[in-house]
Amino acid sequence: MTRAVFLDRDGTLIRDCGYLHKICDFELLAGVSNGIKRLNNAGFLVVLITNQSGIARGTFNESDFWTITNHLKAEIQRESGAVIDAVYFCPHLPRSSLDSPNPHVRLELIVDCNCRKPKSGMILDAAKALSIDLSNSFMVGDRKVDVMAAVNAGCKPILIGDSKELESLSPSVSKATLIVSDFASAVDLILKTQ
Ligand SMILES: [Mg+2]
Ligand SMILES: [Zn+2]
Repeated sequence: MTRAVFLDRDGTLIRDCGYLHKICDFELLAGVSNGIKRLNNAGFLVVLITNQSGIARGTFNESDFWTITNHLKAEIQRESGAVIDAVYFCPHLPRSSLDSPNPHVRLELIVDCNCRKPKSGMILDAAKALSIDLSNSFMVGDRKVDVMAAVNAGCKPILIGDSKELESLSPSVSKATLIVSDFASAVDLILKTQ
């Protein structure tokens, strides 16, 4: 069984500017390419796990998503020879979150799916496809939905940010969450707890 590090994309690897879909808004965060390379070298599978409800909202489409994600992959490869092994994204939006319907909304994607974080569907799909040992794997993200997805899937949550993000979560979840200030520190922690 392989160990993996699941990574959120926006706000974790690249600057979160809200429904990012243009290369001109793309900004890789400091320490990311080197950090992913260190995970590659340590034998972890590196798997992107990202909510992209901008697709359901009609803000951008699957092709725009892949343009940004492929650019991310090319940049980390160019900077550090780092590799993302697999990509899972949720294009859906729950009906309850659709505030003001606009003409671009993709109605077929307005569903209560099992993949949108905080649900664990994407992590479980990846674990099945790639034979990942979840109890010895990590999910790194910048929001409480990332923490919840990790807990729901049975892997270890690492939050980049501060404990304020965890305020509404149960004490047991907060206690199980490792909090770090940036991506490089998340990688340090993962490699230390091996
Ligand atoms: Mg994020
Ligand atoms: Zn989904």
